[in-house]
Amino acid sequence: MDASPQEFDRVLSSMCTRPHPEARAAAERFLADNPGDPATYPAIADLEDRAVDTLAEVTGLDDPAGYVASGGTEANIQAVRAAREVAESDTPNVVAPESAHFSFNKAADLLGVELRLVPVDDDYRADVDAVGAAVDDDTALVVGVAGTTEFGRVDPIPELGLVADEADACFHVDAAWGGFHLPFTDHDWHFGHAPVDTLTIDPHKVGRAPIPAGGFLARDADTLDRLAVETPYLESTAQATLTGTRSGAGVAGAAAALDAQWSAEYEANHERASGNAAYLADELTDRGYDVVDPELPLVAFSLPEAEFEAARDAGWRLSRTGSGEARIVCMPHVTREMLRTFLETLDAARVGAGV
Ligand SMILES: *Cc1c(COP(=O)(O)O)cnc(C)c1O
Repeated sequence: MDASPQEFDRVLSSMCTRPHPEARAAAERFLADNPGDPATYPAIADLEDRAVDTLAEVTGLDDPAGYVASGGTEANIQAVRAAREVAESDTPNVVAPESAHFSFNKAADLLGVELRLVPVDDDYRADVDAVGAAVDDDTALVVGVAGTTEFGRVDPIPELGLVADEADACFHVDAAWGGFHLPFTDHDWHFGHAPVDTLTIDPHKVGRAPIPAGGFLARDADTLDRLAVETPYLESTAQATLTGTRSGAGVAGAAAALDAQWSAEYEANHERASGNAAYLADELTDRGYDVVDPELPLVAFSLPEAEFEAARDAGWRLSRTGSGEARIVCMPHVTREMLRTFLETLDAARVGAGV
């Protein structure tokens, strides 16, 4: 086979990154282990417990229940599924800010649940009053996002938790991307800060685990039990995950990534990425671009089509938000030097266009 994987030295908009070297090595060792059948594969099951313990530490959860999922999408689907099981409605709905990840559309579609997307405020955060107005007796789940995919915004989590509480609905926080930055900020976002029932945090994004490694956590072990089905022909007797056979590489990679980096290396990454985002935002502002102030290390800014195309032609992997802003995610592989080179590409394109 002569294909080569994508190099990361010009990848600017992806939430994937180079895995941590120890995570890569662990993934290779456990490639053939199936965490979906812990009775036959006890070593990988132990590693999964370890990963969940550490994820719980990151998210302020005392008595951990959860698993390493295939990604944030599975975790979000499971949150909706669990909430639907709890709710006693024949016509359940989920209320989420319109900034919520598109995985909630998949969840609603699969599970036959109505998804009510509520407008965000002027700074791209969930509008608590609008969420409050959208919930009703049939609301099974309220969703808050701690680090939105497009703008890196953190919703007012405790306030949304209150809305969920008053509506007698479950409350889910999606920290798929933000979860490895937020511990080093003063945001309220996790189990320890609000009445959160379930939470998504992805080791395969900022956590530097190899794909596939998402994280699904629940405050109560009951939540997982509710998702479990019987598994007659396996050595293990029940399974709460959405997928059956799962990647031992993902689970071992997540456990190793967390072991190696929580918390000093994650903190160092947060500092470095935040510094890079601030640098980029300043440089873009100086050049006259409209920049959305980066709350977490993600910089969105308006970029004319010609410059966007010039950057793509120069090999930069760059995407736009739904509303058109170019979006740079300061992932662990995104260095200051890369950003300098990217700015040179923009400068050359502006000279070329006579700007
Ligand atoms: C990336 C992302 C997801 C989806 O995660 P996958 O691992 O791609 O399935 C969900 N929510 C948020 C906020 C994300 O950024």
